[in-house]
Amino acid sequence: MTKKPTFAAGRNIAMKVPPHLYEATITKPLQTTLTGSLPKPAWLCEPLKLWSPWRLSGELLAEAKRDAVRLVLRDQERAGIDIVSDGEQTRQHFVTTFIEHLEGVDFEQRKTVRIRDRYDADVPVVRGPVARKRPVFAEDARFLRAETDKKTKCTLPGPLTMVDTLYDDYYRSREKLAFEFAAILNQEAREMAAAGIDVIQFDEPAFNVFFDEVRAWGIAALERAAEGLACKAAVHICYGYGIPANIAWKQTLGAEWRQYEEIFPLLQASRIDQVSLECHNSKVPIELIAMLAGKDVLVGAIDVTTERIETPQEVAATLRKALKHVAPHKLFACTNCGLVPLARPVAYGKLQALAAGADLVRQELE
Ligand code: ZN
Repeated sequence: MTKKPTFAAGRNIAMKVPPHLYEATITKPLQTTLTGSLPKPAWLCEPLKLWSPWRLSGELLAEAKRDAVRLVLRDQERAGIDIVSDGEQTRQHFVTTFIEHLEGVDFEQRKTVRIRDRYDADVPVVRGPVARKRPVFAEDARFLRAETDKKTKCTLPGPLTMVDTLYDDYYRSREKLAFEFAAILNQEAREMAAAGIDVIQFDEPAFNVFFDEVRAWGIAALERAAEGLACKAAVHICYGYGIPANIAWKQTLGAEWRQYEEIFPLLQASRIDQVSLECHNSKVPIELIAMLAGKDVLVGAIDVTTERIETPQEVAATLRKALKHVAPHKLFACTNCGLVPLARPVAYGKLQALAAGADLVRQELE
């Protein structure tokens, strides 16, 4: 357990060690962060709707996105979140907005395919070699870094989830396409890290479904995407938003959701630094996080499928359970998934509850 004298010692040595070493050795326990997305203002796109189209275009849209990022940063700072994100205010969809900027993918003639082995979606089609014409989110990363003094986090889709959100009419191999995407993601991630971002997270909800592929090449593709990053690399794996297809899927998973048991040992042996997972109000047995020994564990203490705002005490109860398996400085208080489908006041209330719940438990450590 981290004790108060550690922090006192940290203050005493602060003058003698360079700031980055100070950060590495004296880490605040139970830092708060979020998976990535937050609701967008109604002037940017229709609220309470996933993948809602933009209301503006051109330079007006670009300016409106920057203003929305400023708003979500102020909300996170006021709520007391330690590691902040841009709330994905510049993206319509966590996978396809990135793919839209690549060559080789046709967004006009879409195909309907079953994704996540769960529901049908109209997806873009890979018709030629995929390539990145220019940076996609690097400018967003620089803007985020310039707009806050807090530690920052940026998200990218993971390679396996990308290939599961497309129809591939060119490579005809999910593995080959995943490694093509991983190389592109790595270029993007390196530019984000160079902008001064502290954590780059790859979203891999498909890891919870395709265990054979995760084992055979999914982890290797993820490591390729995160290769050589000058910041922390995270992966987020969840049970999704509260859409009907996900609710129906969860009902087939039995009394205990043990999907993480397949993946965590592989991630524990990988070069990925942090794992973000769903926990609060789920049927995930909390002891599974012990399989991530040595990694930073971002435990979901906020349910994104309900408009009900958790109490700080409920958040604290989830964190206390997790603390039985993970050391305080390796445990982060996070959300189960993105907050984008919620009303803005609800999302803000949930951020406040997350910070207040982590504060309660932190006081018990001192
Ligand atoms: Zn998620």
